[in-house]
Amino acid sequence: MPDELLQRLQRFQTDAFPQHRSHFRLLVDDGQHPMTLFIGCSDSRLVPYLLTGAGPGELFLVRNVGAFVPPHDQSQGFHGTAAAIEFAVLNLSVKRIVVCGHSHCGAIRALYGDVSPAAKHLSQWLELGREAALPVAEPGPDVLRRTEQRAVVLQLERLMDYPMVRERVEAGILALHGWHYVIEDGEVHVFDVQRGGFVPAARADNAGTGPYVAHQPEALQDDESTRL
Ligand SMILES: [Zn+2]
Repeated sequence: MPDELLQRLQRFQTDAFPQHRSHFRLLVDDGQHPMTLFIGCSDSRLVPYLLTGAGPGELFLVRNVGAFVPPHDQSQGFHGTAAAIEFAVLNLSVKRIVVCGHSHCGAIRALYGDVSPAAKHLSQWLELGREAALPVAEPGPDVLRRTEQRAVVLQLERLMDYPMVRERVEAGILALHGWHYVIEDGEVHVFDVQRGGFVPAARADNAGTGPYVAHQPEALQDDESTRL
């Protein structure tokens, strides 16, 4: 029985890696300088590199169930997502933070149902989306969509409780973007605080604003504004 996963690893090194060798060499020699922290749901159908056309070195990625942001309350525990936010902002000086939820999200659906009693961490983690849930017992597709989008905005608001995020957003050197990816359409809807909701990318004039600051491409260097 061939080990398919092992074969894929071998194929990567022999077939794919040679095309990227020099790029990776540069990223090792110069280090990584990603402009974007991407906080996305763990869902396998959400593929950040496909959505954004990003290559190696461009996205600092954090993924978790629901694309949730834990509170900045320094509570006891191991907060991987909070640590990644601090590192991306303080050490990497990212210029954008994207929070990306998506359609048919199991985490959002779970807000309306029961979670296995064995999944103690999961049921506690889902509390980070609880405020987004609507007072409906049997949510239809519209309610789920709205909850998914409300959850994204909730996480953006929670991001602003991180002092290093708030300082930089208020100084206009860090922008927050809320995205909702509709898997079946291949389209991201971006949160636009001025237009009061999520706008399909095809009809948006920027990659998302807010909820606290307008999109400010002029605040970025020319060479940076074209990068992610
Ligand atoms: Zn999800």
